[in-house]
Amino acid sequence: MKKVGAEREITFDKTLRYARQKEYDVKEYERVPYHFKDAGDKQVYKNFNFSIFIDDICNADCKFCVAQLRYAHRSMLYNKIHIKNKREYLRRLEEVLKIVRPLNPSVSITGGEPTISPILTDVLKLVDKYGFRKRTITTNGSGLFNIQDGDTILNNLIKYHWDHLNISRTSYDDNINRKIMRYEADKEYSSMEDLKKILAIANKSPLKHRISCLLLKESVNSVEEIKKYVDEYIKVGANNFIFRELMDYDHKAVNKEKIEYCDSNKIKLNDIWEDFEKYPELKPYLNILGYYYYVEIYKYRGCTIASESADLNQQYVEKDKNKDTVYEMVFHTNGNLCGGWIDNEEILDKYDGLNLDNK
Ligand code: SF4
Repeated sequence: MKKVGAEREITFDKTLRYARQKEYDVKEYERVPYHFKDAGDKQVYKNFNFSIFIDDICNADCKFCVAQLRYAHRSMLYNKIHIKNKREYLRRLEEVLKIVRPLNPSVSITGGEPTISPILTDVLKLVDKYGFRKRTITTNGSGLFNIQDGDTILNNLIKYHWDHLNISRTSYDDNINRKIMRYEADKEYSSMEDLKKILAIANKSPLKHRISCLLLKESVNSVEEIKKYVDEYIKVGANNFIFRELMDYDHKAVNKEKIEYCDSNKIKLNDIWEDFEKYPELKPYLNILGYYYYVEIYKYRGCTIASESADLNQQYVEKDKNKDTVYEMVFHTNGNLCGGWIDNEEILDKYDGLNLDNK
């Protein structure tokens, strides 16, 4: 049985890079039997992540937005239904937390932009009440100094024992970052100066950060640019990074703007990884094969540099092969607990109160 998470063996096996999913078999990993109200008996991947989709509202409008891409990949509009009443959303979330807690997942909060959600701190408290291991929030950083419940969101993340703060930025240059992520002009934005203040606070606490960068032809597009990006962020206190390849998706389903943007901007990580070998200062550390993603981790200037490629199609191929397996879980804004990112697919525990709530 293959070990995962903290028990994982630290090895770097380059053959995995090209073998990829041919080498992946979820049955080699530990799975736990579990009964769900609507899906019945399932095998749950032991190291799974439980994502809380807090809201789809965002102050940016990235052409590559993964949240939108996941729906477009299934020929669906990214137009999520919401439990509108805040108290009811939190009540249902608590109900779902009790369902997933015995399985001991890691937890992440995602959106949209979670730090501009008025209920973020309520969600932080609720997750803390049930004591989940490894808690991550993915954000563009904009609202971390917003006040909620008498303190900044950043301090609330620390107070309620969040472990990881993932901040997405496409460039070390604020003008380029603003332009690519299409921020609304008059709305909050987290600049490099703000990031310096954020990291100064986070680095004195148990909250670990990770700066997440999508590789794009119009921004970070080569090993030299990756190094420059890391060098610039080291100056504001960063030490942990992830560089992601634009996801592969279904060309028949995704809308024209996204296809054009993604096709003309894609940087292939396989090429970057080959180039890494010409830079001895980038030291291979570990590689990981997941059910639809592959990650290589390097060390550089005392920093951890992860790099990840993922294929949305592969996610469905893998799930089709093992229909009894739950690989991840998502709590959606419509109250459903699902085995994936679409709020009416792979429903494990359906929320029945939506009509009542909308009255
Ligand atoms: S910041 Fe994140 S959620 Fe917002 S549009 Fe960009 S990718 Fe999507």
